[in-house]
Amino acid sequence: MRQMRLVVVGAGGRMGRALTRAVTEMAGAEVVAGVEREGSESLGQDVGELAGVGNIGVPISDDPLAAFAQSDGVLDFTTPKASLWFAELSAQARIVHVIGTTGWSEGEDEPLKAAARHARIIKSGNMSLGVNLLANLVRKAAAALDSDFDIEVLEMHHKHKVDAPSGTALLLGQAAADGRGIDLSSHSVRSRDGIMDPRKTGDIGFATLRGGSVIGEHSVIFAGEGERIELTHRSEDRQLFARGAVKSALWGFDQKPGFYSMADVLGLNA
Ligand code: NAP
Repeated sequence: MRQMRLVVVGAGGRMGRALTRAVTEMAGAEVVAGVEREGSESLGQDVGELAGVGNIGVPISDDPLAAFAQSDGVLDFTTPKASLWFAELSAQARIVHVIGTTGWSEGEDEPLKAAARHARIIKSGNMSLGVNLLANLVRKAAAALDSDFDIEVLEMHHKHKVDAPSGTALLLGQAAADGRGIDLSSHSVRSRDGIMDPRKTGDIGFATLRGGSVIGEHSVIFAGEGERIELTHRSEDRQLFARGAVKSALWGFDQKPGFYSMADVLGLNA
């Protein structure tokens, strides 16, 4: 079978480099282009060299349109603004678009869903098997425990991360809200400071820690009277997300246009 031709956008970024390494380590796909923004220092550098896997003869360009036209799929861990633009281009090229980008505002999924009429879009705030399994467990725990158990989502990431709460924390919060059968946006508390009203029953709280080189740690805490259940995931290697993204792209190759999640890729929605 022919190799799936992939473009890595944001190829010079932390995840971009991890994605290139993952594609070269895994069977079934190859990197045919790398894209960075106009004026980036990485332009012209070899994608493989930048990722530490040696020269693969693919220089980084600032022309996504040309890159998408010669590919079967895009691996995209950049910014919401860039990912929205890449989704339009993926729809035009009718290819697979894997989006790991986080920091989305409410309603920003709508243009992605429109693009998914032509592209196969797979979007997840976390591409690891462990976190998606955790989300499944959180949904079940939230459904089993009544609102006497307060739900808090705690996360820690490296000091360079700019969005908070993390995409994974929101994914876990959404799983808890789904389990409880409530709307997350009207039941979430995203910050606490100073004197405030006591915690409302049924709210889902988020707490954020930032520091050092932590790749990603998430706990969902169910706090009841006299007992506490904590479900935790710790990411020890960024390659975990990159491998999940490549696996998603390979899965998407055989799908119809649509808007999918990592849970679809892993068969957790079945
Ligand atoms: P990063 O190191 O800042 O990398 C992002 C890269 O995208 C940078 O090289 C950036 O270039 C580039 N970029 C931004 N806008 C662009 C555009 N319009 N065209 C081309 N390239 C563009 O960040 P990171 O740590 O790799 O994380 C990237 C995203 O992935 C974040 O949202 C993060 O939260 C998310 N993430 C998701 C998962 C998951 O499993 N879903 C896991 C880890 C991280 P400049 O430096 O020039 O801006």
